Amino acid sequence: MELVTRNPVVVDVLVVGAGPAGSAAAIYATQAGHDVLLVEAASFPRDKTCGDGLTPRAVHQLERLGLSEKITNEHVNHGLKLHGFGGSVTAPWPKSAFGTIGSAMPRMLFDALLADAAVSSGATLWEDARATSVETTDAGVQQVTVIHAGVEKQLRPRWVIVADGVRSNFGKLLGRQWHRGEVYGIAARSYCTTPRADEQWIHSHLELKDPDGVVQPGYGWIFPLGDGRVNLGVGALSTDKRPAKVNTKRLLSHYASQQRSDWQLGPETDVASALLPMGGAVSGVSGPNWLLIGDAAACVNPLNGEGIDYGLETAEMAVAAIGTNENLTTLWPQLLRESYGEAFLLARTAARLLTYPKFLPLAGPLGLRGPIGARLMPAAARLMGNLVTDQDRDLVARAWRGAGGAASWIRRDSPLWSNPA
Ligand SMILES: Cc1cc2nc3c(=O)[nH]c(=O)nc-3n(C[C@H](O)[C@H](O)[C@H](O)COP(=O)(O)OP(=O)(O)OC[C@H]3O[C@@H](n4cnc5c(N)ncnc54)[C@H](O)[C@@H]3O)c2cc1C
Repeated sequence: MELVTRNPVVVDVLVVGAGPAGSAAAIYATQAGHDVLLVEAASFPRDKTCGDGLTPRAVHQLERLGLSEKITNEHVNHGLKLHGFGGSVTAPWPKSAFGTIGSAMPRMLFDALLADAAVSSGATLWEDARATSVETTDAGVQQVTVIHAGVEKQLRPRWVIVADGVRSNFGKLLGRQWHRGEVYGIAARSYCTTPRADEQWIHSHLELKDPDGVVQPGYGWIFPLGDGRVNLGVGALSTDKRPAKVNTKRLLSHYASQQRSDWQLGPETDVASALLPMGGAVSGVSGPNWLLIGDAAACVNPLNGEGIDYGLETAEMAVAAIGTNENLTTLWPQLLRESYGEAFLLARTAARLLTYPKFLPLAGPLGLRGPIGARLMPAAARLMGNLVTDQDRDLVARAWRGAGGAASWIRRDSPLWSNPA
């Protein structure tokens, strides 16, 4: 990196945002031999509104980064306990190429750990450094302005990986657009003390009622963290046509009061809420020498709200895409569609069903009670977690792939990382 203070700083790969996606991209890029500058608007340790849950798919990615033990040594979980509509079903993480170990770690620690790993791998990290404007030509990004500790600096990157999260204000400067007609999430989380914090199962309550007793299209979660606390939260699904008419913070407090005695919960602290664009429902995700990853590219699973894993996965894919030296404008959306298109379109279609007010009260009792529930829900939990791989040959995996192909065809015109014409 050419560190000339008055002249623009020339850098091979600029990564904007040091959440899980950005830090992972910085690690993969340095490993690939690039000179990397990672700029982060906040300073570590910093919080991020999240459920802190890591599925085996995420733990598998952390393993690829050499970080899984640091996390699983703190806490592990073995699967999901689903509750509601008068029933409860235990769904261990299925045996798959991703392994059978999940975890959960507060983002205050997790993100700092990843950013440290990026620095150890050789990336330069600027904290308190916000990318504020960008100059582009037909060849892509030419210059980026960053305000670093109050000082304006100009950068001349060869490649730019944009990992600036759900709002993606920097991505918007490059033309990123979120399509709200597709299903999206609204969610809130909190931390509560509990004597059950070492429990090695995560819990989801699918019969999520608001204070007026109306079942909401979403779920409540309790993720033990192994540090004397759980992450307790609620998430609901919404579309422009059927907006979830719910105040998530109020819903969270109601849900916590319902769970308080079972879990001997302390008061909710650090309550925070956020929106979640999902399932690739954004366009304008790349140009000749830049691309969006993680939340910025709406890489969040519509069925469980998981985004950390997809941030880590898209980071690795992005560095591989840069390594081709090709124009990324059409290559990147094509790679995203190949990797996630079918699964996300199918998940978006299924999630959309949940936004119909009558669906959950009808389907919930069937799924969670009796012998049908005991067989159905472990399969549902596997599909919700997108824990099916191309190598899986069992009936559920084959049916899911078939349905994914059908959803892709039926919904072929819906926005899926499409670039503007
Ligand atoms: C309530 C809630 C619960 C959730 N629960 C889970 C869960 O249990 N498991 C899971 O896997 N996912 C969960 N998610 C989703 C998950 O939080 C995100 O998918 C994940 O954080 C995406 O990572 P990211 O790196 O793309 O973005 P982020 O983690 O948002 O990181 C973006 C970073 O970019 C920085 N930044 C932004 N703009 C700029 C700029 N202009 N210049 C420099 N830096 C900038 C920000 O400060 C931030 O540090 C949840 C989300 C919500 C809202």
